[in-house]
Amino acid sequence: MKVGIHPAVDNGVKKGSKNFQGGALTCRCAADKVVVQVDSQCMHNHVCGCTKCWKPAGATFSMVAVVPRDKVKVTANAEKLAVVDASAAIQRNACKSCGVHMFGRIENTGHPFHGLDFIHTELSSDAGWAAPEFAAFVSSIIESGADPANMGAVRHRLKQLKLEPYDCLSPPLMDAIATHVAKAKGVLAAA
Ligand SMILES: [Zn+2]
Ligand SMILES: [Zn+2]
Repeated sequence: MKVGIHPAVDNGVKKGSKNFQGGALTCRCAADKVVVQVDSQCMHNHVCGCTKCWKPAGATFSMVAVVPRDKVKVTANAEKLAVVDASAAIQRNACKSCGVHMFGRIENTGHPFHGLDFIHTELSSDAGWAAPEFAAFVSSIIESGADPANMGAVRHRLKQLKLEPYDCLSPPLMDAIATHVAKAKGVLAAA
């Protein structure tokens, strides 16, 4: 049985390019597209099984990466953007017409990932974005309707693609969050 993950990886993960400096993300409207200019290579690109990240129709996972928020600029049709869920930690700015999430921003300065915006590099026609490195929140695809009995096949496919499956974030990112919390509590000395 064929296990679909995301159209950007289903035929093999494409490598990023070392000297890539960023590019433009465009929404999927036929006209008056929202354009977001990102002047940075992305980091921590991964596929995500959570129910909150935007994904294209038919995909089981989203593909999402982070970039420094000061490198993200809306350059066209900003008035079409609205925050999907203002109560969420990540303020996902979506196009009101086509529904695509253009960037997610954390406004809480105490959040471990404050300063980073979440983007979907598949919205860019520029080639060279860093490739996805792992799979996050894999078990959560069940919450979107995936068959629990098929999870072995999904994890097997992710490993084939060298996207190590995790049911939360990857160990380096979980460590970064815990380190942030420990410093905030004074358990660890702040840098
Ligand atoms: Zn749109
Ligand atoms: Zn997600």
